[in-house]
Amino acid sequence: MENFAALVYLAAAVLFILALRGLSHPESARQGLLLGMTGMGIAILTTLMLPTVSGWFLIIPAVAIGGGIGTYIANKIEMTSLPQLMAAFHSLVGLAAVFVAAAAFYNPQAFGIGTPDDIHLSSLIEMSLGLAIGAVTFTGSLIAWGKLQGKISGKPVVFGGQHVLNAALGALLLVLIVLLCITESGVFFWSIALVALALGVLMIIPIGGADMPVIVSMLNSYSGWAAAGIGFTLHNNLLIITGALVGASGAILSYIMCKGMNRSFFNVILGGFGGEQAAGGPSMEGRSAKIGAAEDAAYIMKNASSVIIVPGYGMAVAQAQHALREMGDILKKHGVDVKYAIHPVAGRMPGHMNVLLAEANVSYDEVFEMENINRDFAQADVAYVIGANDITNPAAKNDSSSPIYGMPVLDVEKAKTVLFVKRSMGSGYAGIDNPLFYADNTMMLLGDAKKMTENIIKAFE
Ligand code: NDP
Repeated sequence: MENFAALVYLAAAVLFILALRGLSHPESARQGLLLGMTGMGIAILTTLMLPTVSGWFLIIPAVAIGGGIGTYIANKIEMTSLPQLMAAFHSLVGLAAVFVAAAAFYNPQAFGIGTPDDIHLSSLIEMSLGLAIGAVTFTGSLIAWGKLQGKISGKPVVFGGQHVLNAALGALLLVLIVLLCITESGVFFWSIALVALALGVLMIIPIGGADMPVIVSMLNSYSGWAAAGIGFTLHNNLLIITGALVGASGAILSYIMCKGMNRSFFNVILGGFGGEQAAGGPSMEGRSAKIGAAEDAAYIMKNASSVIIVPGYGMAVAQAQHALREMGDILKKHGVDVKYAIHPVAGRMPGHMNVLLAEANVSYDEVFEMENINRDFAQADVAYVIGANDITNPAAKNDSSSPIYGMPVLDVEKAKTVLFVKRSMGSGYAGIDNPLFYADNTMMLLGDAKKMTENIIKAFE
């Protein structure tokens, strides 16, 4: 049975790798998900059939209750709340790692890793790493959830010596792990848990809104490494492989996002980036903006030869993607060249805009990533910015006091006319003013993204 299980686990691992590959493009994402679900189904069934696994009467109800709650939440959740859902789920992975480590520590025979007075050294190391990473993931994810859900302020919480304190706690963790391995004392076990729980909080509180995407993906990576740690403790190869896949892919995604936001990975991991800066930017008081109506926008776009659509978080909130596609189709019928420009952190999660545009059947070859379209704005007649704000803010390029300074942004201001669809002159996620609203070539279309786009469609007719 063991050999058979190893073979099946290998097949499941291959399915997980193929799933990740599928998820790298919207066109193959559904198939990727199916492959991943198949792999997970096979893995769970095989694990249940292992001779070492008993207590089905506990496992089956637990899987049914957990699966039921998961299905209910997944069906109910708004697309815009997915990042905080991910953070909440990661916290559970972290907590599970803590529980498994505690179970292994107090009942090592059940895990085949020694006796209560003599646990194998390698198992102690694996267990304490799983415990530490799990506890950091647990509290860190809870804070990220609170920030994204608006339960606690998204503003960075900073104090003097924060980095030094975090580094000292990290060093203390290592010392405690060594002491646990030498003494096998429960005091050190729970000290590791406490210090790691505190470190999780301290690492995430100083991080401001604009860096949150990186944090969500970094916590994803941590939860993967915590799962790999549990895999070692449970002697489960598939859990080690799966944890490593999640850990590595989360780390790579964090790296890509850091590049996208021009943040240093090391700095983000230490926490505190952006803490030193106040929400900067020039004062917008006394400046006036041009406010337009749907009819003005329809007239300008109908007479344009190229329009670049820039969707952001507000399009997702308003669920304006279907109306947007309809508007794009009408413009194309009038001979206008229509393209969609996607910023890597538009919306509230990586790939947010791609998913919504795909849902509205926008053709993939009209959708361009930032680096492939930024140059085209200079030749475009219109940039139709719908519910986006931070990802267009030129302060990121020319105002070194801005909290988003250095983040690459879409060069929408280079288009002949910039149409901004949003409900007010208010700020976006990073909480800073956008000087573009007051630019000479900008027209503000104030209103709900979906309603405004529908009104523009009506005005075409
Ligand atoms: P922003 O949050 O910067 O701006 C969105 C704008 O949409 C707001 O200014 C708001 O203005 C407008 N809006 C909200 N609801 C509506 C509506 N119903 N109709 C019309 N407009 C609406 O979003 P961006 O997409 O430009 O930038 C993403 C931001 O989110 C970045 O700061 C990024 O760092 C951060 N982030 C990204 C994550 C990711 O992975 N993509 C995850 C977490 C954070 P008004 O209120 O005036 O309508």
